[in-house]
Parts: sequence; C-alpha cells; structure tokens
Amino acid sequence: MDKEEKEKWLLAGKIGKEVRQYAVSLAVPGESLLDIARKTDEKIREYGAKPAFPINISINNIAAHDHPNIDDERKLKEGDIVKIDLGASIDGYLSDTAETVVVGGGSNKLVEASRDALNAVIGIIKPEMEIDVISETIEKTVRSYGFSPIVNLGGHGIKRFDLHAHDFIPNVNQHTGKRLIKEGVIAVEPFVTNGEGYVIDSSEVKILMLQKEKPVRDPSARKVLEYVKNEYNTLPFARRWIEERFGAMSNYAIKSLVSAGVLYEFHVLKEASGGLVTQFEHTFLFDEGKVIVTTY
Ligand code: MN
Ligand code: MN
Repeated sequence: MDKEEKEKWLLAGKIGKEVRQYAVSLAVPGESLLDIARKTDEKIREYGAKPAFPINISINNIAAHDHPNIDDERKLKEGDIVKIDLGASIDGYLSDTAETVVVGGGSNKLVEASRDALNAVIGIIKPEMEIDVISETIEKTVRSYGFSPIVNLGGHGIKRFDLHAHDFIPNVNQHTGKRLIKEGVIAVEPFVTNGEGYVIDSSEVKILMLQKEKPVRDPSARKVLEYVKNEYNTLPFARRWIEERFGAMSNYAIKSLVSAGVLYEFHVLKEASGGLVTQFEHTFLFDEGKVIVTTY
C-alpha cells in the first residue's frame, strides 16, 4: 500500500477512535441526541476531518441507522442501551467504529458479549483468512453468553469514498468459503441481541446516500443534489444536514430525489422481536501481511 494512502487510513482511524470516546462521554442521562450529534460533528471538524457518515445513535431495540432529525426532542435516559457508531473521513479515507454504553454507567452481559466477540476477532484476524472462521468466532462467543448474533448485519470491506465495499463479514457462519482480502481495509462489527436475532426496516429514514446521478428538473432537488455531490460525494449523509442548510424545502427535495432513484435511503433498523441490541466495531488495515486496528 502506498505510504501516503496508509497514513490517511491510519489518521482517519485515530480520529474515529478519539471522537468515539468523546461521543461516549456525552452519553449521559438527560443529554439530547441532537446535542450529541452536533457536538461530535464539530469535534470531527476540529480534527480536520469530515464525518465518514452521520453518527448513528441507536437506542435499545434499535440496532442501527438512527440519527436525530432537526426537530428530534429525544433525550437519553438512565439505563438506555446506546450504540454509538461513527467514523472520520480524511479525503475519502475512512474509519468506522462503534461502542455500546449503558446510560448512567455500569455494564451488562449483553454489552460484554459483543465487546468480547470483537476482542476474540482481534485475537485471530489475519489477511486472507477464511471469513467463515471470523463469523464462527463471533457466533460462538455470543452464544456462550446465551445470546444471539444478528444474522443480517455484519462487517464489510471499506474503500476510498465507499463505506460498504467488497466482502460482507457475517456475524454467524454462513459457510461462504470466501477469504478476507490480502491488502486493504475492513470493518468487523458483532451485533448481539436477547431477541430473535435479525433486524427489520422501520419506516423512518434519517440517513441517505447518493446512489445514481441523474438529471432532475425540479430546481430545489437540483440544488440539493449539487450540494450532496460536492459535500458528501458517495458517502452517507444526514437528512438533518440538508435541513440545516436548506430549511423548509429539504423534505420535498429529498423526496423527489428518492423517488427518482438518485438517493438511497438507510431505514432505521429494529430488532424483529423488540430485543435489546448491542454492538462494537473496529476498522482493520491489512498491509504487507500485518494487521493494524486503526480505531483501537
Ligand atoms: Mn459502523
Ligand atoms: Mn460498519
């Protein structure tokens, strides 16, 4: 891997780690989701980076993709199980890292199971190893606690400006027979639940992404599309960021870009049976046969 490129991956990882720790420190009773999101956006910029994607602040049975809209009034409550999932972008070189906190302090077995599963992966991961072995390690660790891994969420490759590139890394052994890449970047993210073990889409959408550029006629939609291309490229962005920039016309513009197939919607994901969900995630860089956990 090119030396300059490697340095950018490492810097994105270091910033991701610092900002994750900062966001975790904000997750206290009474703090609003909107404040946490705005403060972490600000912190990432202070480090000279951009968000790789909008911070996911997902509470209890919500597994992922939750993010406050501009009018969100939710506050964290004592005992809430909150997944903080974020990343930094240095010129498109990304990190992706997550941690689960019990609001008000302490921990529990559900949190420990996902942390332990990720640590078990850190202990064995190598370039070009069988993906099934990673999946099996996560699955066994989680089941040893008496919980279930979430079968339809998992790790993934990362490329420049592409958060979900190449191989999917399932949290249960799906006997894919595939191997990890030799050189490059991946994320591993065990999701654990005391529910059924899979997530379903809710109707809510807080995060979107450019998926296919097309000519659009509506002037407000065109304005938003230009902004998205320049500001976020092919990385996910928050509905809130558009609302803060463009005000009242945002919802209409986003709606028409979605129906034209220009924008992709990330639905808020909920555990199917309403079970509680925990998650930890790190970004790994493989180079010259070595592994670096960039967000550790
Ligand atoms: Mn993530
Ligand atoms: Mn990820």
